[in-house]
Amino acid sequence: MTTTRTPERGGYKGIELLEIESLAPTTKQIERNEGRRIPDKWNADDVIPCVVCGRPLNPKVQATWWIEAVEGSPLILFPRDAGIDAGSLDDGSYMGCHPIGSTCAKKIPMRYRWKTKGEA
Ligand SMILES: [Zn+2]
Repeated sequence: MTTTRTPERGGYKGIELLEIESLAPTTKQIERNEGRRIPDKWNADDVIPCVVCGRPLNPKVQATWWIEAVEGSPLILFPRDAGIDAGSLDDGSYMGCHPIGSTCAKKIPMRYRWKTKGEA
């Protein structure tokens, strides 16, 4: 399960952040995911890893899921419906927006992810 937390101090005070530590694979799994062979038809330079699990993301996929993170480890997500620009609240832990794989996206509540169309 994921858990929400509402910080009492810092730039994100009062905002319902989502901790996704429980979604995150073990260090061993991440290393294995990062070591997955990239298919020959993918341009290796375009491949970036899912920020949650480390699996290489297909650069040819049209639609990509994104999350906005405010801390490093465990990954903590900023809600899309906060009505505030997370970056403007930066308390030093803002991590920006990162693409995630569709498998990880399914485990994250809609409030904390969104989809864009890719360039490919
Ligand atoms: Zn993933």
